[in-house]
Amino acid sequence: MEKREKLYEGKAKIVYATDNPDLVIQYFKDDATAFNAAKKGTVDEKGIMNNKISGRIFEFLQSQGLPTHFEKTLSEREMLIKKVQIVPVEVIIRNRAAGSLSRLLGIPEGTQLKSTVLEFCYKRDDLGDPLINDSHIKALGLATEEEVKAIKELTLKVNELLSKFFLKLNLELIDFKLEFGRYKGKIILADEISPDTCRLWEVGTGKKLDKDRFRHDLGNIKEAYQEVMQRVTA
Ligand code: 5GP
Repeated sequence: MEKREKLYEGKAKIVYATDNPDLVIQYFKDDATAFNAAKKGTVDEKGIMNNKISGRIFEFLQSQGLPTHFEKTLSEREMLIKKVQIVPVEVIIRNRAAGSLSRLLGIPEGTQLKSTVLEFCYKRDDLGDPLINDSHIKALGLATEEEVKAIKELTLKVNELLSKFFLKLNLELIDFKLEFGRYKGKIILADEISPDTCRLWEVGTGKKLDKDRFRHDLGNIKEAYQEVMQRVTA
């Protein structure tokens, strides 16, 4: 398998073509951004840690029968993935209130929600990824009703599996963001699942082991990601 030209560069990752038209390489950078890129920085070895964590989580989800874009880990910072057409919608699950939900609805951070919240945001950096609903997705033609149904079902299944997975590691999955892609007519899980895209609090202490340490200058960012990596790969 041969690495070819750069296809896309995002805030935290780069995608390269390969000699196989169905497969691409996802490269994880140390760059970190928050608040729609208003805050920028780097976290030493974040790319290495997120590649490891994401790879392990995708392997776990695949072992449970969920379709993902993950093929295999190639190097410290690279994984081989299926080339998908990304659905321009971010899917967020919330088990406890935090972040933008706390701000939007005036709910104190950490409030246990009476039921799981599933949100959609339109993937548009120029608009600040606005919150949208199923009817916006349909009206804008971002995905079909059938695709939205598949995305919701997969997302709720991921929440069920990962909440248990992390709890065994003494971590509570507060919320997370997923992205999906189309591959050979099917919806599959894409992007990454890491402390960049999840809120993870240590059970008992409530210690934040995720990107909120970068967002809110809480310090020990690398140590927090290392902590998650060690538990996830143990
Ligand atoms: P919030 O909407 O509270 O900022 O984020 C909810 C959850 O989704 C958090 O776990 C957060 O890390 C993740 N999330 C939401 N939007 C983005 C995004 O654009 N990039 C990343 N990396 N994570 C996001």
